[in-house]
Amino acid sequence: MQRPKRELECGELLHGHPCPPLALGLRAGHAALGALETPRAVERELFAMVEVGGDHYGQGFADGVQVATGCTFGKDLIVRVPHGKLGLTLVDQRRRRAVRVAVRGEVDEALESSEWFRVCEARGQPWAPVPDEVLEPLLGFVRATAEDRLFSVSPVFPMELEDGTPSFRTVPCDACGDRVLLPYVRERGEARLCLRCAERRALPPR
Ligand SMILES: [Zn+2]
Ligand SMILES: [Zn+2]
Repeated sequence: MQRPKRELECGELLHGHPCPPLALGLRAGHAALGALETPRAVERELFAMVEVGGDHYGQGFADGVQVATGCTFGKDLIVRVPHGKLGLTLVDQRRRRAVRVAVRGEVDEALESSEWFRVCEARGQPWAPVPDEVLEPLLGFVRATAEDRLFSVSPVFPMELEDGTPSFRTVPCDACGDRVLLPYVRERGEARLCLRCAERRALPPR
């Protein structure tokens, strides 16, 4: 059982602190990988959609999904579909199929009736520092509970998302000098401009 511990540490590094939503995101990622029978993304094999909104207490869920699945912000392999839920849809781009994993209501209820949640809610901060003796039992609960009791997992269904071709060439902007990836260059007369400089040039003179 080394993997979960190491992953939680990686998650902590990424997310900034350990918390139950982070632990749930890790397990949700693995549940989705398991249902799709695929390993985590080394390159662009997968794509993740998480349903937490920007104002959801469970932000850690999205970071857990990134660590478990390899669908990272840096690889542009994760988006929010903000529905205010602890839910994940993971797409296997090669086999053109996907699965949705959602935290069960009873698990949400267990979290939300915990001392951890009470402290966070009272302070208005899901990252409020709580003592280990408050946090540990909840992390233990997420680690130890069987997958099918934590999540409802949909049947695998057909799905494929567009995936752009990467560009490798940059040129300098004629106005500011920044090097810009070619698809982001705009031609204005003779000049090749970055988006910011092209926008400025389009503004009417004050
Ligand atoms: Zn957190
Ligand atoms: Zn520029």
